Amino acid sequence: MDFFVPSFFAPRHRRASLLSTEVVNRSRVLDTLVNNLEGMAYRCLNDAHWTMVFVSQGCAELTGYAPAQLLGPNGVSWAQITHPDDLPRVRGAVQRAVASGQRFAVQYRITTLSGQTRHVTERGVAVHDEHNVLVVEGFIEDITQTQGTREALEHAELRYRHIFEHASEGIFQTTRDGHYLAANPALARIYGYQTPATLMADLSDIDRRLYAKPGRREVFHRLMKAQGQVLNFESEVYRRDGTRIWISENAHVVRGSHGEFLCYEGTVQDISERRHYQEQLERHANHDLLTGLPNRVLLGDRIAQGIARATRLGYYLALVFIDLDNFKFINDSLGHAAGDELLKEVALRLTGCLRSSDTVARLGGDEFVLVINDHYRTSSVISLLERVLKDIGRPVMLSGREFQVGASLGVAMFPSDGDDAQLLLKHADVAMYAAKDRGRNNFQFFTRELNRQADERLHLEAAMRTALEQGAFEVHYQPKVDHRRRIVGVEALARWFHPELGTVGPDRFIPIAEETGLILPLTTAILRLALAAAHRWNHQREVPLRLAVNLSPQLFLSHDIVAHVSALLRQAQVPPCQVELEITESVFMGDSERAVAILSDFKALGVGLAMDDFGTGYSSLSYLRRFPLDTIKIDRSLVTGLEHEEEVAMIARAAISLGKSLRKTVVAEGVETQAQFDFLRYQGCDEFQGYLLSRPVSEEQLTRLLLETGGVIAPTPM
Ligand code: C2E
Ligand code: CA
Ligand code: CA
Repeated sequence: MDFFVPSFFAPRHRRASLLSTEVVNRSRVLDTLVNNLEGMAYRCLNDAHWTMVFVSQGCAELTGYAPAQLLGPNGVSWAQITHPDDLPRVRGAVQRAVASGQRFAVQYRITTLSGQTRHVTERGVAVHDEHNVLVVEGFIEDITQTQGTREALEHAELRYRHIFEHASEGIFQTTRDGHYLAANPALARIYGYQTPATLMADLSDIDRRLYAKPGRREVFHRLMKAQGQVLNFESEVYRRDGTRIWISENAHVVRGSHGEFLCYEGTVQDISERRHYQEQLERHANHDLLTGLPNRVLLGDRIAQGIARATRLGYYLALVFIDLDNFKFINDSLGHAAGDELLKEVALRLTGCLRSSDTVARLGGDEFVLVINDHYRTSSVISLLERVLKDIGRPVMLSGREFQVGASLGVAMFPSDGDDAQLLLKHADVAMYAAKDRGRNNFQFFTRELNRQADERLHLEAAMRTALEQGAFEVHYQPKVDHRRRIVGVEALARWFHPELGTVGPDRFIPIAEETGLILPLTTAILRLALAAAHRWNHQREVPLRLAVNLSPQLFLSHDIVAHVSALLRQAQVPPCQVELEITESVFMGDSERAVAILSDFKALGVGLAMDDFGTGYSSLSYLRRFPLDTIKIDRSLVTGLEHEEEVAMIARAAISLGKSLRKTVVAEGVETQAQFDFLRYQGCDEFQGYLLSRPVSEEQLTRLLLETGGVIAPTPM
């Protein structure tokens, strides 16, 4: 605001032509104006006392003195009223203005009649009056109030800035789309930046650059929207160097005076240490200190998870209670340190026997529990337990001496032996005592039937040898059909009827054959039978029936298998292109160089190659690409229940499209319902096999089926 020129109020007649009444009027108007101003207009001499020649009425309000008290050489001088500390500064300002003929403006303090200090601002100018005397004219107003507010503001600003700059918590303001408006040094430090400026320049996209978990910022937005704030919002974030830390945020929405969104504002705390501590505590609460294995608490969780999974996929869950046989002896005679060593060693060996999806837990003392998932044959559980026993039984070095430790294992199976963790554990414990009673270093199932099977295994080997010599093995054939249900091939499946044991399934005898080396003579026998049957069918058909035979992984990698199969084909006079070998993924897990070489030899021979049980194991794309396979067989577990379970259907869909994209023939096995058939056909499966179409049947039955149906299996009427 520009200041009016004070010489107006002692009117000078600059326009001589003005009428005198006009002059009087104007003078009165100005008088009223001047005297009603808040503040004091003045004219004073430019002497040491600033002797006042005119002061306006505002003087009383400003200084407490009546205007008359300040006028003339005997009045209270302005120099006196001016605060002594400020006087030199004010005088300097006035003198400079006088010397230069410029206006001045100065702020200072005065002391009122009642002794109060007031802040004033004075603006003035030196002029020559009508008598050509140099005078100073000006206007002084009280700014005590605004001065106070300004100082308070400045102090507050300073205080807040101090807090902002020196807080140990990060403080931020951000836009909704994730840009920083403000950040303090602590925030920069927490996120690993040198200064707030570098942070603000570099971290321009919080949504994607900050949070480790995608979608975290979404949650932040959602909470903000719902509640206008977030409290103790814990997230994992990236620092500048890529390391991750945990932070806790408290923030709220800042709105303008009309309620419009301005920004988010809040604080950030680095809580990594607390999280770490918490995780340690959790680990501590869930794991055994000595071995690092899950403890009883975590075991409960794992069993529950295992039960859920087994229920979903129709697999078995085996719960194994293990008690070491001579632990007490070692602990007592060699001391606790040796005992601890032994427990750690056993923990290692148990872990080594299992897959990563299984669990080894320690309950305390020398008691361990295994949770074994994903078996759909009891025989594979049995062979796993045999491995466990063998592994624990290997010599251990303790205090420089070799010891042998045995274990008693009790097994409860879900679903047959109980449907919750508690009951299963109890039954496994009961079975474990049975194993101890049986003379230790063995395993017992809770169910008598399974124990019978386990015992039987011991006798089966001998029985198999006899059966092989007597040619007692048979082959059944299960048709595979195309999408129009035309029979295009069969899978040969081994069958064994034992005069005393009854029908023994391949799930039981194949693992034993593999362990005992009987797999080669067995496979040879099966191949001979199946090839002979194929040869006979060829006489009755124009289009040869493709024959699939299972080849055990063990055999696959054995010496000379290609030459062996080739010789059998020649003897049977069946062209190699009519035969397909079904092998499982485990073949590819070990020496894959060798596997590739053998597969190539088979290809060169002309036989087809199918990957069996696809989707149960590691199902990796890399080997599917690398290995010369013609067909993949989607495992039964991806077919069973696919019409009820979205997850199963999803995996099946993925497996099929994977196979199709690699241009393989895709076969689905274990098709039991029309709904499954329709789904699989819709997804692009080429061939189908399962009880819906036909069970495995004898050669005569198949021959009849081919004749009677003309090779097309009609849908069974509902
Ligand atoms: P695999 O190769 O997966 O054979 C399919 C199994 O699923 C067969 O059981 C078959 O009878 C059964 N199956 C077929 N359709 C259905 C269905 O709709 N529902 C259900 N629940 N099951 C169905 P099988 O004959 O008991 O054979 C079991 C396993 O034994 C075979 O599984 C295979 O791995 C092995 N195996 C059978 N014969 C031989 C053989 O000659 N040599 C070798 N190395 N292994 C064999
Ligand atoms: Ca098979
Ligand atoms: Ca299979």
